[in-house]
Amino acid sequence: MNKYQQFSNHLKEMPDEKGYFGKYGGAYLPPELVAAFEEIATAYQTICHSAQFINELRRIRKEFQGRPTPVYHCERLSRLNGGAQIYLKREDLNHTGAHKLNHCMGEGLLAKFLGKKRLIAETGAGQHGVALATAAAFFGLECEIHMGEVDIAKQAPNVARMKVLGAKVVPVTFGLKTLKEAVDSAFISYAENYKDSIYCIGSAVGPHPFPLMVRDFQKVIGIEAREQFFDMVGEMPDAVCACVGGGSNSIGMFTPFVGDPVEIYGVEPLGRGEKVGDHAASMRFGSEGVMHGFNSIMLQDKKGEPLPVYSIASGLDYPSVGPEHAYLHDSGRIHYVYATDEQAVEAFYKLSRYEGIIPALESSHAVAYAMQLAREMKTGSILVNLSGRGDKDIDYVIERYGDGKQYL
Ligand SMILES: *Cc1c(COP(=O)(O)O)cnc(C)c1O
Repeated sequence: MNKYQQFSNHLKEMPDEKGYFGKYGGAYLPPELVAAFEEIATAYQTICHSAQFINELRRIRKEFQGRPTPVYHCERLSRLNGGAQIYLKREDLNHTGAHKLNHCMGEGLLAKFLGKKRLIAETGAGQHGVALATAAAFFGLECEIHMGEVDIAKQAPNVARMKVLGAKVVPVTFGLKTLKEAVDSAFISYAENYKDSIYCIGSAVGPHPFPLMVRDFQKVIGIEAREQFFDMVGEMPDAVCACVGGGSNSIGMFTPFVGDPVEIYGVEPLGRGEKVGDHAASMRFGSEGVMHGFNSIMLQDKKGEPLPVYSIASGLDYPSVGPEHAYLHDSGRIHYVYATDEQAVEAFYKLSRYEGIIPALESSHAVAYAMQLAREMKTGSILVNLSGRGDKDIDYVIERYGDGKQYL
């Protein structure tokens, strides 16, 4: 058995029924929320095998989301780097412009099957809030998004989008008034309302069953990409690569490939550098601990409190990583690597100028690493998940970096 084959049953074996990927995962919850999460876990285990649920999700993906998204060969960018060929899985072409809708539509459909009338979540930069508000509008459900006052002020366009889509944005006014407090506020509302509501997490993190559910809803990316790439090229890619914030687009891309002879790279944000508060590279600088209801690798201080994090890409600044990533890291199956703000911005301009595709700053981290890897590999192929489009980042990038001539 080679080192890849031992993972060929990974999707069937992980997680166990308590939501553990090896020692990572689980559900560490306040007593008032235990019953609510158990209800979701039990319901999901049944519904995910139901033909009606699977067929309905397939129809939604095709008719509403515009799936399958294409795989595209970047010939000019590959030539520029003079090494391996770079291919993109175009999640930027998924409805709403990023991969997040994949799990929001799954969570919305689950709510519908359970007869719930409201979706509850928190949001930081607002991307998850917009995707969930889209799902709520589609299914005719109410949507309640908790958001720190500081983030509301910073993310006006996303707040406006949520409101246009019919969501109720709840301002969180305590503590630092950002993501952490928004999580607490959403949990409180959910504990009070779980009989007619469902909580929807925005990444492959949180208490069981969310890392499992989000992985399952996102793995459509890797399943499609694996087949599309094989159709185009006639073999498997040599490497697969995606950016890692909480880890949803990457786990969706990676898990269908874990049993294949393919090198897999998760790219974390190294921000401005290695000092605490300058990056969000949880795998590189983190250690085992429990946060937000699950056990994983996290950036923490001596008391186990989350450390401050930073990235130019607000979707990547999370002080932990999904438990399945922590397991695949320790088992040596996936390489976790880094790209800085500077490298991401360079990739942002290069992909825009050489291919006519403006990537999200989050996705630019994956493109940056792929360009470096392409030069090192010299031949072969790299399949990159382009998790989202960059329209949301253009004003900021232009203001700080101008026309990008220095990178081209
Ligand atoms: C939110 C976001 C990410 C990071 O989240 P993951 O859960 O790690 O995938 C990456 N890319 C885009 C475009 C995002 O909006």
